[in-house]
Amino acid sequence: MKQHSRPPELRYDRLRDECVRRGLRLTPQRDVLLRVLGDATGHPTADDLVQQVREVLPTVSHATVYRNLQELVREGLIRTLDRAGAAAQFEVNPDDHHHFVCRKCGKVWDVYLASVDVKVNRRRTEIDGFQIDRREVQLHGLCARCRRPSVRKPA
Ligand SMILES: [Zn+2]
Ligand SMILES: [Zn+2]
Repeated sequence: MKQHSRPPELRYDRLRDECVRRGLRLTPQRDVLLRVLGDATGHPTADDLVQQVREVLPTVSHATVYRNLQELVREGLIRTLDRAGAAAQFEVNPDDHHHFVCRKCGKVWDVYLASVDVKVNRRRTEIDGFQIDRREVQLHGLCARCRRPSVRKPA
């Protein structure tokens, strides 16, 4: 099951082009990291990504991968999911999407909403002069696996 609509090769190309456009050096470590990010599905943690980079470059340090990730986040190439109490997860899907969070297992799925109609009630909200960059809609509930009862009754 594929979660992403863009083929990995194109996502890698896009990340690499963005790096070049922003004048970021394409070190061998960074190039491997971009490939890993291009192939990634879901919302990997930094540890997941370190592990995958090490499959190609076994001697690369945690610090190097972390530093590279932070730089990519700072430059806006990738984002992190803002989730309290969980290890930082990276957003690698460049397409406009939202998230479903399972309240039992804590996993996060990408969802594509048909429309996001969020209107601020200006009379009740004091954010005059603010600029809204992004609307984050999060769906919460139970995933299919967590909904299944753990002990099956015989039919
Ligand atoms: Zn679940
Ligand atoms: Zn996502």
